[in-house]
Amino acid sequence: MYTDLQNVIPDIPTSIEENEAAKIEHKVLVIDDNPTNLGLLSNYLKSTGYKVLSARDGESGLEKAQTLQPDIILLDIMLPGIDGFTACRHLKENPDTQDIPVIFMTALSDAKDKLQGFQVGGVDYVTKPLQYEEVIARVGTHLNIRNLTRNLQTQNNHLQATMSELQAVNQTLSKRNIQLEASSEVGQELTAILNVDELLNKVVSLIQTKFNYYFVSIWLLDTNKDVVELRTGIGLAKVRQDIRLDLDDDNIALIWVCKQGEPRLIENLPLEEADSPLNLSVAKSELVLPLRTGEQVIGVLDILSQDFDTFDNDDQVVLQTLADQTATALRNAQLYEAEAQRRRLAESLERVGRILSSDLDLRQVPRRILDELGGVVPYLRGSVFLQVGSELQCIAKRGYPSKKSTGQLQITIDEGGVFQRMTEVGQSVLIDDVIRDEGWQQLDWLPLHHSWLGVPLISKDRVIGMISLTRLKANAFSDEDMHSVQAFASQAAIALENAGLFDEINQFNEQLEQMVTERTEELEQAYQRLARLDKTKTDFINVTSHELRTPLSVIKGYTQILKMLPVNDDVEIEKLVIGIIQGVDRLHQIVDTMLDVVKIDSEVLQVRREPTNLAVMIRDIKYKLRDALEQRQQILTIVDLDELPPIETNPELMFKVFYNLIVNSIKYTPDGGSITLSGQLVEQVGEASQVEIVVSDTGIGIDAEHHEQIFEKFYQTGEIAFHSTGQTKFKGGGPGLGLAIVRGIVTVHNGQVWVESEGHDEEKFPGSHFHVRLPIIQPIL
Ligand code: ADP
Repeated sequence: MYTDLQNVIPDIPTSIEENEAAKIEHKVLVIDDNPTNLGLLSNYLKSTGYKVLSARDGESGLEKAQTLQPDIILLDIMLPGIDGFTACRHLKENPDTQDIPVIFMTALSDAKDKLQGFQVGGVDYVTKPLQYEEVIARVGTHLNIRNLTRNLQTQNNHLQATMSELQAVNQTLSKRNIQLEASSEVGQELTAILNVDELLNKVVSLIQTKFNYYFVSIWLLDTNKDVVELRTGIGLAKVRQDIRLDLDDDNIALIWVCKQGEPRLIENLPLEEADSPLNLSVAKSELVLPLRTGEQVIGVLDILSQDFDTFDNDDQVVLQTLADQTATALRNAQLYEAEAQRRRLAESLERVGRILSSDLDLRQVPRRILDELGGVVPYLRGSVFLQVGSELQCIAKRGYPSKKSTGQLQITIDEGGVFQRMTEVGQSVLIDDVIRDEGWQQLDWLPLHHSWLGVPLISKDRVIGMISLTRLKANAFSDEDMHSVQAFASQAAIALENAGLFDEINQFNEQLEQMVTERTEELEQAYQRLARLDKTKTDFINVTSHELRTPLSVIKGYTQILKMLPVNDDVEIEKLVIGIIQGVDRLHQIVDTMLDVVKIDSEVLQVRREPTNLAVMIRDIKYKLRDALEQRQQILTIVDLDELPPIETNPELMFKVFYNLIVNSIKYTPDGGSITLSGQLVEQVGEASQVEIVVSDTGIGIDAEHHEQIFEKFYQTGEIAFHSTGQTKFKGGGPGLGLAIVRGIVTVHNGQVWVESEGHDEEKFPGSHFHVRLPIIQPIL
């Protein structure tokens, strides 16, 4: 737009002589009523090269002036009709003729007339009789003046045009100036900022406010150059700050620029949703500029405008300059940060070294390492773990929820889990987002942090544990962070070695394992010994009971015969015989019981699945035991049993269950006591219906410590010496098999039996309650 002023201003004639050549072109209008004067003057003028027009009065003179546009008028004052002054006034009032210079011709030498002539617009006057030389000279002078004036006007017009052009140029220049100012400001400010985030924020805010764009953002490539991330954005719109894009969709302008390293201008948006990751549909044009340092593209500067065709060539040049400055400043800041990080790391490591060589309790070392680490690689949750067998044991932690921070933290080492991965490769593991990691074990009581960095603790070429750090957001740890933590990890490993903590824990662990193995072996041996003993016992009972049964039957037969012989008339002898018969019956019962136990032990008992009415069965038992109850003056009450449904059992076996329980109640309840049998239906969600029978007594009760043992074979709480031979005598202990048989039978019926009692007391008689639960319908196995 630069204009050469010399081309605009035309050449200006500098002397009258120069104009002589041009006078042939000039028309002179002579207005005079005197024909002689008119003729003489016209001839003279013509002879000097002028073209002459003439008029004899004011009116026709005005007309000719209007139509023929003379270059100059010689006007007589004394005219018929309107006089010369009036004619001149008309000429000056008419825009078409007002610029034509008028020279008055007057015979009068009166000063008043001359003055009036100038007042009405005349430029000069000549006096009559005319001096032709003078007339020619004055005409020439005024024509020159008029030409000069015209030229000046043209020049003026040109100048005005030039002025507006200059103004436009000026505007462009001041816009450029603002841009350059901004650029220099950005340049100056940027070199001073050494914090990357602060720098990026400053750049976008400067560009956005100085140039008034709709939205300005900076995107940076990650170190592997496979993802570009929105680092900062500012403008009239609000956008999400955590946008990350894979570099696969070239339709997205900023991805294209990242890959090509060339600027890209998109005019005349609206942006399709798919094309703009920012999704700012009001934007009309977009300029994406690469941030380059040397050959490398490190990111892009993305500028959106609300107007169409916003970015002209100059804008693009200036903005690219800004982008280049930004890239350089960014590189510097990154280098500075890396340097500062290295310095912090070195200082921190030195401090750790000092801590280690001080007389600090070495057990505090892991915790101090975590503290120091926080100053170099900020994290939210950090912990130091040591491997103890198949578990990771936490020996120091920071940033854990306060409730749990004091407790022990142990994690089982999972197949494919992070620690195992780390051990396999002997290297750190960085997880950008744990929810996308298959092997990640999230402890349910810990708040979810997305980024995880695990660095192995290596001692004597072996991974002995790890340092684990978390940050809330995904992709928060960088490779530099990892290297820093690794430097700490090697220190930490040495420290832990020095602290002997690892060895100590391992030794302890080995000892523990050794002890467990030894104890297990001992227990195993004891168990086998017991199993052997048990088998021997069972075999012994089996053999003995079978062997006893035959002679018993013989004795019983003979005694029956003896009872029927006439010798029985002797009352004394009869009593003796009856005594023998009772003793034999009791022996029989005991032998039968022993056989039952053998059957239970050898798991040959069968449930026959016969619908059994428990109420009837129990009334039958009561009837059978009526003598004993009467003898002991005890009352047996049956409650609510009639309401119960029949249940599937083997009635013979079930008879033994309740018979044994009721006999026990009679035995362990003092004379005059009472026994109650009650029952109810038990319905539990998700389980088959059951009935529960409770045998309660007002007897001596059982201590809690015996509640389980009494169901074992041959177990009795009382002294063997007090055993009474009678089956239902008070505290007349039997062989200790009754409850073992009860549990065996209930178990094969898929039921449960247990006792409830406040304890053993032979003065207060707290009583016992035996519960038997049985399914109504036996499950099909
Ligand atoms: P025993 O033949 O000795 O009665 P059990 O197996 O029937 O053998 O009972 C084992 C032990 O449980 C008994 O010796 C007794 O101490 C205790 N016991 C059983 N039932 C009762 C009860 N109703 N009240 C108090 N103690 C009982």
